[in-house]
Amino acid sequence: MIGLSRNLSTVAKHSYIRSLQTPATPNFIPFSQLQQQRKLLEWRLISILHDCTVFSQIKQVHGHIVSNGLSQCSYVLAKLIRMLTRIDVPMDSYPCLVFGQVNYPNPFLWTAMIRGYALQGPLSESINMYTRMRRDGVSPVSFTFSALFKACGAALNLDLGKQVHAQTILIGGFASDLYVGNTMLDMYVKCGLLGCGRKVFDEMSERDVISWTQLIVAYAKFGDMESASDLFDGFPLKDMVAWTAMVTGYAQNAKPKEALEYFQKMQDVGMETDEVTLVGVISACAQLGAVKYANWIRDIAERSGFGPSESVVVGSALIDMYSKCGSPDEAYKVFEGMKERNVFSYTSMIVGYAMHGRGPSALQLFHEMLKTEIRPNEVTFIGVLSACSHAGLVEQGRQLFARMEKFFCVAPSPDHYACMVDLLGRAGCLDEALELIETMPMEPHAGVWGALLGACRIHGNPGIAQIAANQLFELEPDGIGNYILLSNICASAGRWEEVSKLRKVIREKGSKKTPGCSWFEGKKGEIDEFFAGDTTHPRSSEITQALKQLLKRLRAHGYKPNLSSVPYDLSDDEKERILMGHSEKLALAYALLCTDAGDTIKIMKNLRICEDCHYVMCAASEVTGREIIIRDNMRFHHFHNGTCSCGNFW
Ligand code: ZN
Ligand code: ZN
Repeated sequence: MIGLSRNLSTVAKHSYIRSLQTPATPNFIPFSQLQQQRKLLEWRLISILHDCTVFSQIKQVHGHIVSNGLSQCSYVLAKLIRMLTRIDVPMDSYPCLVFGQVNYPNPFLWTAMIRGYALQGPLSESINMYTRMRRDGVSPVSFTFSALFKACGAALNLDLGKQVHAQTILIGGFASDLYVGNTMLDMYVKCGLLGCGRKVFDEMSERDVISWTQLIVAYAKFGDMESASDLFDGFPLKDMVAWTAMVTGYAQNAKPKEALEYFQKMQDVGMETDEVTLVGVISACAQLGAVKYANWIRDIAERSGFGPSESVVVGSALIDMYSKCGSPDEAYKVFEGMKERNVFSYTSMIVGYAMHGRGPSALQLFHEMLKTEIRPNEVTFIGVLSACSHAGLVEQGRQLFARMEKFFCVAPSPDHYACMVDLLGRAGCLDEALELIETMPMEPHAGVWGALLGACRIHGNPGIAQIAANQLFELEPDGIGNYILLSNICASAGRWEEVSKLRKVIREKGSKKTPGCSWFEGKKGEIDEFFAGDTTHPRSSEITQALKQLLKRLRAHGYKPNLSSVPYDLSDDEKERILMGHSEKLALAYALLCTDAGDTIKIMKNLRICEDCHYVMCAASEVTGREIIIRDNMRFHHFHNGTCSCGNFW
């Protein structure tokens, strides 16, 4: 019996090996027949090598290669080296040894070495091999260049990449090679030269789906969706991958409406979808927060065989989407319906609960998760810590924070510290929060100081507020919200001198402020957009009337405009006018116009909701008997019967 490892499992493979062992038939054999036999042997060895999965097997096959007189056969040895590379055998060990024994390596064997070094590094060794090959007078093949381009792209080494490009021109004959063109394009794109990538694309005499898709993805990555869509329009053979690149590209560039449009078109032309497409469109829908689309996408996912019970990736994305669309209950239904759950599904649900202020549910789910094999990750802890914060569970939060590294090997990041500062700050332990920041092993980021400043607003502590604000002014020089917060804190404490100084800065910076924008999703799924002070909506005058009437009713209930929410030196009338134009108020008035009594109103907002609007929403939920849900850039606010789920802390 021959000594091949039992891991080469199939009977077929054993019979191959046995046939290699059979001595050649004696007597006379014509030369052509010998050649044929040799070719056959080479192919057998290559095919056996192809199935090898461990080093010992490859070494055994190498033994056979040598004993069969093929120790100089570059074709077979190139395959052997490629297999060694695949299982990560270091290039300068066995592969080098094999290569060194060949007197005249052919271009494929050279390329196997170049490719091996390209994959494992160092890149310089890969280039060295190329130089040696050229010095020996061996001409490269297209795989040589594609390996080098891939390596330069991975190492982001543009200089070398350009030199390799120059080589393809110098040697000639590669201008029309599709494989070389595609990897060259990819190299330029990876190195950040999109224009050069485009030039390569334009000059390619032949292009395939990969060439087109690579460039579309590159445009999307650079945020140039206009060029991506122009290119896509001109692409004659749009396949699922190209469509997905468009959907995902728009989603990643914060253009959820367009992402959904492309997904819709994809459906219209009968294009199939896979998990990648679905995750892209689900994330777009989560950004938009539109429930109607959420249900539509879920249906499609289920029909394509990627529903929550089949795909844990899609299921987890759906949980996140429903949470962000303001429907934590629907998210939980998805979670419950999943056959398989992983850390992402649990984490999405925990974060979803936390986002909606359902602290106890989040913690309960966390403890359920710990009973399984699944271990929490960084994001899970963000979820549970912020859940503790919302639910005012200070002691639990402290314990979890203390245990996360020790028991779960998750080292606290600045985001976790921000959660803890929020938790302590909310509970009024401002000194403890400040002390925690001072003991941080890394530099605190704006989120950490922002949480502390927010807490100072609630508990009225201008001293600590000033410390936090000073840090924030440095970290976020354009963050006007910090100046407004500090100014309001100082105003409450009667520090008028500071207030007037701050107002001056706010006025100067105010011109650069991102305009406030809110979206309202109507019953048929249509989305209306409102900018602050916007009068361009077709029903603008009705909206203004409806808002005036609502505010009149609220005034009767004791509402007074919170003029300190307007950080400019203006007359009170002017301040009132600005407050009335806040985009979420316009969206609310419009929602009241076009929904029925008893309907829940959901509004999305791009910035943090101001105190005046928050008050108006609270009061409106009581006066109109409506449930109002607002998603601002920080969290969800569920307004119901005069109170908000955030407990007036956000
Ligand atoms: Zn407002
Ligand atoms: Zn709230």
